[in-house]
Amino acid sequence: MTTCLVCHSEAVDAFLDLNETALANKFLRPEEAGKGETAYPLRVGFCRDCNHVQLMERVPPQAMFDDYLYTSSMSDTLVAHLQGLAATVSTRFDLSADDLVVDVGCNDGTLLKGFQTHGATTLGVEPAANLAAMSRDAGVEIVNDYFGAKTAQNVLDTHGPAQAITLTNVFPHLPFLDDFMAGVKTLLADDGVLVLEAHYLQDLLAHRAFDTVYHEHVSYWALRPMIRLFERYDMEVIDVARLPIHHGQIRVFAQRKGIAKPAPAVAALVEEEIAAGLNRFETFAQFGDGVLDLKRDLWNLLDDLAADGQKIAAYGAPAKGSTLLSFFGIGPDTVPYIADKSPLKQGRVTPGTHIPVVSPARIQEDKPDYMLLLAWNFADEIMAQQADYRAAGGRFIIPVPEVRVV
Ligand code: ZN
Repeated sequence: MTTCLVCHSEAVDAFLDLNETALANKFLRPEEAGKGETAYPLRVGFCRDCNHVQLMERVPPQAMFDDYLYTSSMSDTLVAHLQGLAATVSTRFDLSADDLVVDVGCNDGTLLKGFQTHGATTLGVEPAANLAAMSRDAGVEIVNDYFGAKTAQNVLDTHGPAQAITLTNVFPHLPFLDDFMAGVKTLLADDGVLVLEAHYLQDLLAHRAFDTVYHEHVSYWALRPMIRLFERYDMEVIDVARLPIHHGQIRVFAQRKGIAKPAPAVAALVEEEIAAGLNRFETFAQFGDGVLDLKRDLWNLLDDLAADGQKIAAYGAPAKGSTLLSFFGIGPDTVPYIADKSPLKQGRVTPGTHIPVVSPARIQEDKPDYMLLLAWNFADEIMAQQADYRAAGGRFIIPVPEVRVV
């Protein structure tokens, strides 16, 4: 029986089944590819009580986060975004050198470096050993562990309370929300603020971004279930904003109850979620049907191009690409390689589908007619980087939210 992570209800019903799938970020070395990769069921469900959307099955976090290939600093857009977040929080909450900012899942330290330039004291909590080492090299103090009640108590004992706790793209990853919230309650200063950014369910539906679904993303957040979760820990959402980054995110500010009056944006977004049908199972069942339409449309295009003798490759190897390739059944016979900027991924093959990841230099040598854009959420940035490819007649296939060629 699947239990809701937010309200502990057992009325969680599946609306999307992406089959047994390998872990989206477990890019393999070529010699590992033949050696019994583990696949796990990937189903998404809707809680009929609090309307939280989450995975139906869990994978042990250690299988996913101890070694991690996604780094914030690889994307220019993301670095600029995180610097902007550090500036916003530092100014709004008047942070100084006496104030501790704790970033949970601090990745390579990009956000905390931003806070340092605005004067705050910083500490990162990061479970992936390779990322923790990168953060330390960047001059950020690190606790190499998962954040929960125990870690929070240790940080409180050694560093005192946190004036700000931040999470970017981490809240959806948490399989043990109660332990996490207990940690926040322990570590957050009385007038401190929790700031989190997460992909937003309303955008996920609008963009048909089913490829946001992979095992690391345990939760798909809307504001209403989040409010309910914070209430259980005597906290409240005091402000919320929608952000255009990735395919659409929300930035949420929460404090202990009674510290600040919630901004009108909070009630407004709750209303909008109800109007968008996020409180109804049928909304999600329709979304599941739309994903199958997308699969059919993309295969129709790929088959036509292949019949025409067109040369196809792919661009960008984000985790979301692993979900798309795996669920659509696209392998090296259709897409012989994927070009990606990340040296951590080059020389490896995609999980489950085993497509080699190569340097973008390959594009100039091979001159594919079409490139399937798997990192479609960074389309503008990638189009700009690949202006020469397009000027020479190359075309991109954007697979989501509708299959189109540009
Ligand atoms: Zn629930």
